[in-house]
Amino acid sequence: MRTSFKFGLGLLVLACLGWLSWLSYLDWRTQAEQQRLQAQPAPTVAAMPERLDWPQQLADLQHLASDEMAGRGTGQAGGQLAQSWLVQQFELIGLAPAGTEGYRQPYQASSGKAAEHQGAANVLGQIAGTDPQLPLLVITAHYDHLGLHEGQIYHGADDNASGVAALLALARYFKQHPPRHTLWFAAVDHEERGMWGSKMLFEQKLLQPEQIKLNINLDMLSRDTERQLYAVGAYHQPALLPVLQQLQQQSSVRLLLGYDRPQWLAGNTPDWTSGSDHAVFHQQGVDFVYFGVPDHPDYHQPSDTFAHTDQQFYREVSETVLSALLLFDAI
Ligand SMILES: [Zn+2]
Repeated sequence: MRTSFKFGLGLLVLACLGWLSWLSYLDWRTQAEQQRLQAQPAPTVAAMPERLDWPQQLADLQHLASDEMAGRGTGQAGGQLAQSWLVQQFELIGLAPAGTEGYRQPYQASSGKAAEHQGAANVLGQIAGTDPQLPLLVITAHYDHLGLHEGQIYHGADDNASGVAALLALARYFKQHPPRHTLWFAAVDHEERGMWGSKMLFEQKLLQPEQIKLNINLDMLSRDTERQLYAVGAYHQPALLPVLQQLQQQSSVRLLLGYDRPQWLAGNTPDWTSGSDHAVFHQQGVDFVYFGVPDHPDYHQPSDTFAHTDQQFYREVSETVLSALLLFDAI
């Protein structure tokens, strides 16, 4: 008895020691990752070029985040309104329809609460590239948000009216300045309830992974926290690094490459690899860059409103995303 008791105690002590060393290792890793992020170059560009139609973009953001759109809940009246409004915008811009019913790709989520959401659909359009041999660049931004809940509107101005208004502005730009690669513009539904919209792009075979060069996902672009914008994804595909480092030098915001590393490498810093629609592309083996700002107190709150938008910062972020697309289109 005594021997097995000692053995048990020994194991317990070893387990405790192991746990404590893992915690201190994580702590060390967290600090090392913070130092790595801090060491990245601060912006040297004083002002971005102003190439996007800013008044239109801002008006689009305001409209998407208005009471009328009621937080764009999937399956709710506001979500349906946002969907038809986006179809109109794609048509006005002159994108070629890329859905299954014109611009729309209606679908039925197959499990969980998402299956109860009637009327879910992605809104999809494209601009043909000048070189048809080149693979696609797919720009995604989810248009759904939390909708109307217990009598309160969750407006989702930053999350993700900001990404969708930027996607529309980029589509307008490239309609005037034809790209080399075919650009796919996907305003996807259902991100907040399991990324069903993105999953359906592949499940219904509207996209094949091998056709795609890169997914650029936009989700939360309009809130200024020490002028930080994250570009997530280069850890998974180091070939993206030189382009993103070039982008750091062209941007007037603080572009940080990170938040894509596992815990053993980055300790307790966030890992956004699975954080938004780019996760679905990643699971399909497609390279991605996700652009997004740090979480803020209004995240997933009714107070995520148009009034809280940091307009100048959002404008510079959108121009940074345009620069990214131009860089990726050139290679
Ligand atoms: Zn979001």
